[in-house]
Amino acid sequence: MERAPSLRAGAVSGTETHRRMRHMVEDYRDVTEPEIVSIHYNCSQPPHPLSEQLFEQFQEACMIIENDVPAIAFIPTDSTTQDGHEVTSLLMVQAKKDGRCYVRGVGRQVPYSRMNLAPDFGRSGPSVGNIIHELCHVLGMKHEHQRDDRDGFVNLPKELEKSHNHKKVADVHFGRYDTASIMHYPTCRGTDCAERMTAGPRAWSTPGQRVQLSNQDKLFLNRLYPPVPSNMYNPERSRHTGRWYCGRRVMEENNYPFGCIGCDGRCGPNNGPNCPACIMYGVSQGDEFPLVLGDDGYGSHSTQGETGLMYCGQRMKKKSSIHNGVCGPNNGPNCRECRQLLG
Ligand SMILES: [Zn+2]
Ligand SMILES: [Zn+2]
Ligand SMILES: [Zn+2]
Repeated sequence: MERAPSLRAGAVSGTETHRRMRHMVEDYRDVTEPEIVSIHYNCSQPPHPLSEQLFEQFQEACMIIENDVPAIAFIPTDSTTQDGHEVTSLLMVQAKKDGRCYVRGVGRQVPYSRMNLAPDFGRSGPSVGNIIHELCHVLGMKHEHQRDDRDGFVNLPKELEKSHNHKKVADVHFGRYDTASIMHYPTCRGTDCAERMTAGPRAWSTPGQRVQLSNQDKLFLNRLYPPVPSNMYNPERSRHTGRWYCGRRVMEENNYPFGCIGCDGRCGPNNGPNCPACIMYGVSQGDEFPLVLGDDGYGSHSTQGETGLMYCGQRMKKKSSIHNGVCGPNNGPNCRECRQLLG
């Protein structure tokens, strides 16, 4: 039976998502067949090569993204050719002491993407999280706080509102406003915040973390770079739930920043919520996004949230310290009926 379109508040159809993302991501390529996308980088160019320690951190950031986004492969190179092919978009990374971390332009630039990781950034130089943030720009992501629907989630003082890195430029969105996204600037807490960005009343987590990609960050990147099976990532479709599962231990923070929910920290291997990469692998194989299950013919159904769990948005009986009494609709624990949907 054909299902009716699964539009819920805040959700957009696959076609609409696709159209919006084409605008949002500057170097978006129309990928019909998933393929490994190699990002060649060079960190040793004079006059500002990365120190050994900074280079190690850079590599760690690359590995984290490769783990979360299986279609991405970061490859060190010291020339503009690789295996006889010209590298058309080389990521040049330098460590110039100007107190700042940045990339020039969002998306991969031809012939060079340029990144600076200042050793004198902040108190102790760039963290791995800072580097992940910059790499996400290279992969096509803009700042979350520059979304034009940010009002209420972040507050900006008048002087900042129109500045280059704060003005509203992201007019197309992937999913709900994501206060957990790594693509924010840190927000000011405590006193003395008059001239800085602060969390707004609608923020559901503290914006500005540099710990990891949020679940929505992961979903977005895997939508842009659909996963490719390999030795490291080998999803299988479960006969129990019809979902794809890779079996990897990548769900320990599936309710980030509130820990793990509804699983044992692994993606599958046979049932339960699946990881963002597997959700998007399913989409590349023809699954709908977001997934809707349990339609009873009377309009009651559940939609897959950022945690990989199913949510119906209905009131639940219990409220608790970790729960506001509603099943989802994006994260947190779900109701018993929704739990049963993924076995
Ligand atoms: Zn940035
Ligand atoms: Zn998975
Ligand atoms: Zn429910």
